[in-house]
Amino acid sequence: MNELVRTVSVKKTLYELAAAKVGQHVCCSTLQKTNPPLDEKTLRVVAYNAFPRDEEHVRVISELSDNRPEYWNGGKHLFKDGYVKRIKQIGFLLAAVVEDNCHGKSASVTVAFEKQRITSTHCSLCNYLWCTHIVAAIVYRIRKPSKVLHHSPLTDALLPLTKEQLQQLLQFTITRNPGQLLCHVFEDLDKVRNRSESINLTQGYPDPTFGLHSDEESTDQLSIKRIGRLPFFQDRDLPSNGNKTCCSLTDQDAFMSSRYLSRKEKCMKTAIELLRKGDINLSGEVFIQLAHYFFRVQDQLNTSERIFMLNIERWFSLFIASCKGPIREKMLSVALKYNRNFVEKNYTPHEGEMTMRSIKLKKDRTDYNDNVINNVMGENRFGPFYEAILAHFQNSIPEALQLLYDKFTDNSLHLFETHMKNLWT
Ligand SMILES: [Zn+2]
Repeated sequence: MNELVRTVSVKKTLYELAAAKVGQHVCCSTLQKTNPPLDEKTLRVVAYNAFPRDEEHVRVISELSDNRPEYWNGGKHLFKDGYVKRIKQIGFLLAAVVEDNCHGKSASVTVAFEKQRITSTHCSLCNYLWCTHIVAAIVYRIRKPSKVLHHSPLTDALLPLTKEQLQQLLQFTITRNPGQLLCHVFEDLDKVRNRSESINLTQGYPDPTFGLHSDEESTDQLSIKRIGRLPFFQDRDLPSNGNKTCCSLTDQDAFMSSRYLSRKEKCMKTAIELLRKGDINLSGEVFIQLAHYFFRVQDQLNTSERIFMLNIERWFSLFIASCKGPIREKMLSVALKYNRNFVEKNYTPHEGEMTMRSIKLKKDRTDYNDNVINNVMGENRFGPFYEAILAHFQNSIPEALQLLYDKFTDNSLHLFETHMKNLWT
């Protein structure tokens, strides 16, 4: 078996392996600046490898926009039933026509991507980040990449054309839809003729098939922005289920498989799934938005919401103890902000709240003596997120947090949640 795997793997050339890695890890803005520029064939291979491969990962991200599950399943059905037509990849843009029997129309779909992430989506029939038509095109490209025609980015495809060929192309294209295109073409023609127009003062030309425009927001940013708006978690939440919140770490399997979650719970579930998929940046951003929400409404929390908030604190602790990079630092600064803010408000928690607040962590004293470790970051041991801050000092992932990540239950959590309910009810 190992021999077979080795034989198959050596068939890929070093060039193909390198191009695959570049597609996976290098963003379009960096690729555009390479000097000398990548040749047309290499760009095509890199772009081929830049489309997401993990369908489940895309599905989890799409859930952030609060779409109902039928969007994803509906898209898969459109793909399976052969409604995706004229699908092609041009550089880092997927374009397809998806037939829609319900509307009696066809949807023109475009999906931009890089580094194996979807960065922007558009559907001519719908106004959502993710709709059945967009999902159908994405699923098609992931499952049948060899059936999709691949072209170089627009700039590279136009570059070898002669002046006559460019004129021919432009006039043939306008003739397809003069009503829609002629106005745009002549508006831009006037700008091109006027040397003082901004389009003549910037270098290069916009290319929608080669990364997002600098002032364009990605689907990830748009989703996070949406979650960050206060009404997001307040609108259309499921009716309160009282103290029987699903969001209990003592029954994580039930929580993760539940179909009846409020928006807050659903977002937390998505953040956990993203973390387990290794998408730490987006996962961390979702946890941060959840923390912001709870601190904005902290005076109105009921018991189950307070326990929910403590669960978020636990995930902050796990994140800070185990992840690296800018998102970890961002989460630590959020934890410190809320922890210190409580100092200013002279917040005095109940003794039980202080000792049972979250998973018990001890400061790792290997590298510090007691004097240095005490309030080294100005943290308040009575404030929220105290243990998330202590997680910063851990040399290894504490067992309780590892259990949390591995979906196992620490027995002390049962006692903890019971205690918290008694304390607040
Ligand atoms: Zn649509």
